[in-house]
Amino acid sequence: MNHTIVALATPLGKSGVAVIRISGEDAIKSVAALGITRPLTLRKAEYCKLTHPVTGETIDHALVLYFSAPYSFTGEDVVEIQCHGSRAVIREVIDMLLAVDGFRYAEAGEFTRRALENGKMDLIQVEALMDLIESETPLQKALALRQLGGDVSSQYAMLEELLVEARAFCEVFIDFPDDDLPDTMDKQINQKISDCRNHIMTLLSTSQAGQQIREGIQVAIIGVPNAGKSTLINAIAGRQISITSPIEGTTRDAIEHYKDIDGVPYRFFDTAGIRETFDDVERQGVEIAKRLLNESDVTLFLLDATKSIPEQLKTVGEIVSRETIWVLNKCDVMNNFPKNILGLSENVSRETICISAKDGGGIDALLKNIAERRAPIATDAIFVTRQRHIAHLRNALVELEKSSLEYDLVLKSEYLIQACREVGYVLGKIHIDRVLDVLFSSFCIGK
Ligand code: GDP
Repeated sequence: MNHTIVALATPLGKSGVAVIRISGEDAIKSVAALGITRPLTLRKAEYCKLTHPVTGETIDHALVLYFSAPYSFTGEDVVEIQCHGSRAVIREVIDMLLAVDGFRYAEAGEFTRRALENGKMDLIQVEALMDLIESETPLQKALALRQLGGDVSSQYAMLEELLVEARAFCEVFIDFPDDDLPDTMDKQINQKISDCRNHIMTLLSTSQAGQQIREGIQVAIIGVPNAGKSTLINAIAGRQISITSPIEGTTRDAIEHYKDIDGVPYRFFDTAGIRETFDDVERQGVEIAKRLLNESDVTLFLLDATKSIPEQLKTVGEIVSRETIWVLNKCDVMNNFPKNILGLSENVSRETICISAKDGGGIDALLKNIAERRAPIATDAIFVTRQRHIAHLRNALVELEKSSLEYDLVLKSEYLIQACREVGYVLGKIHIDRVLDVLFSSFCIGK
């Protein structure tokens, strides 16, 4: 039985207005359940008195909207109640609705899941909706909105069309007797396959920036103990989020701070100071720091101006992150500074940014430098933003490669079908229940 689902679409708490949504073929039964006597007009807000159908007691006054299938968010009949945002009102309204036969509370993401199942959106748009709800910076929001509007989906639709064309070419020639096959046939089909490959490569070329905008650019602050890493993250955050201390080995877990720089999300990590240690907990912290060092998009290598620079470089070891910024801290203690900077190689010393994490000197210049290193991001561009998409696009590339090397037309076409299937996975045309379960479970209830 396909139940009619009910949920609070706004966060639970005290607010001026709360929105309760009902979706399903019996949604209109909520009108009687809430004792609404006023006739509803489609897609028009009606001011209604909600009364208890048994006691006749007034529950609230609310705006009520009615959308009939398929012209609603879910593609089903939907009733939306905009009542006062009091816990007492919300509880009573929801209790009255759940008393209706066939009504039940929605699961996380179930409204959106029904929208997907009823063809109101594809999986890329579902993911975009989730990103839009989660978005914190203007850039993340712009990207999510473009994706929700279908711009990214249409790129995959184009790819699908190219693949179908390539397949059609194979199919046409499959039934030809060998002698009648045109000499240029192989070249023509492989040209089609090459068009598909180029389309995928163009999409994949946007994936690094796309993921960075969606997940944030990861910046690891690395250095020996006491270099001032915790003091620096506190200065960036503008408040104390990490313990600072002259005692070495204080920071163990990586401490994260999210910062919006010019609309772009950055995730700064304060890490344990890298050194040899016999303390088990600190050693685990050092391992986490080394992992972040390898995974990060940017590394801030924090050097203590009051200590030997070559020693610090030796202790931290090789850095393999994509981008390293050399930062000389404690420059307020200028006596040691000129002497120490001589310990850096010429290249490093030229690019070193001098700061004082303690009194805030040079922090703005450092943030500016971080932002300037990022390639400009056009808000109207299309981006591949998820690992899931990247994986399917790469699989499709493998199938295209096999197809281009294959002489047997039946097999050549079969590989193209597989490539098409990979695109179908991205769009959610081929339902992968596991993916859907994971995705919708991270939605809030009422979405
Ligand atoms: P971490 O181990 O790298 O996280 O270092 P902390 O941030 O805990 O700092 C270690 C010590 O250095 C503390 O006593 C800080 O007050 C001090 N410190 C940090 N930054 C500066 C700075 O810019 N100037 C001076 N003079 N001292 C600093």
